[in-house]
Amino acid sequence: MNPENIRIVLVNTTHPGNIGGVARAMKNMGLQRLYLVAPRDYPNEQAVWRAASANDVLDSAVVVPTLNDAIGDCQFVVGTSARERRIPWPLMDARQCAERMALASGREQVAVLFGREDRGLTNDELKVCNLHLNIPTSEDYSSLNLAMAVQIVAYELRMLTSPAGQPSSAVDEWDAPFASRENMERFYTHLEEALVDIEFLDPAAPRQLMSRLRRLYSRVRLDEMELNILRGILTETQKWVRRGRDSER
Ligand code: SAH
Repeated sequence: MNPENIRIVLVNTTHPGNIGGVARAMKNMGLQRLYLVAPRDYPNEQAVWRAASANDVLDSAVVVPTLNDAIGDCQFVVGTSARERRIPWPLMDARQCAERMALASGREQVAVLFGREDRGLTNDELKVCNLHLNIPTSEDYSSLNLAMAVQIVAYELRMLTSPAGQPSSAVDEWDAPFASRENMERFYTHLEEALVDIEFLDPAAPRQLMSRLRRLYSRVRLDEMELNILRGILTETQKWVRRGRDSER
């Protein structure tokens, strides 16, 4: 596990106090990298107060305008959510998920996304994630305070570091690097184009097709080599479609 490869991403946070609380929760558990996507009210004194001695985490926080700017270079993205969504996604609790993140962090950039205080992450934001993380709660009230949710995830990660702070012995021995978010987005764009070309996808009635395909590929997690193979297949398919159309003329 390499905590330097794990970033906490807060999307559109409303209350600056929560940002400070998150910084503190992170530093307590040995995490340093905080990304703030379009925070509503930041910088703000309340963030500094709540951060207490974790000002260094706040000072080095990266403020970006869009989610893509925060996770474009990540190979493993986890979305946290208090509720079930319309399309079920691979879902884990904080403990199981921390293991996956710790493993991935040995060689990859890992991001954990946390949503808005009032409405969490949008379905579109959850769809860019490889996994969804849910902290089990009472059925009566499932929505935790943002900083407390970060605390629990950070604690589970902490529990996986060995006492001497050495990387854990489990190493991911994959033979190719996993695809980054940016490259996955390029692939989805290409896939959509090709599906329209072969008239499998009707742009006028796309239904849930792209969401379902995203979920499929998120579940297996493609490496760069596999991604290149699939893009090669798409390119060749598009060539055949064009040839077919040209010969009809
Ligand atoms: N009403 C919102 C709750 C937002 S709470 C919703 O239903 O999603 C703010 C953020 O804290 C959430 O977006 C999520 O990132 C995190 N969070 C709160 N409760 C959680 C839980 N039980 N499991 C996982 N994350 C949670």
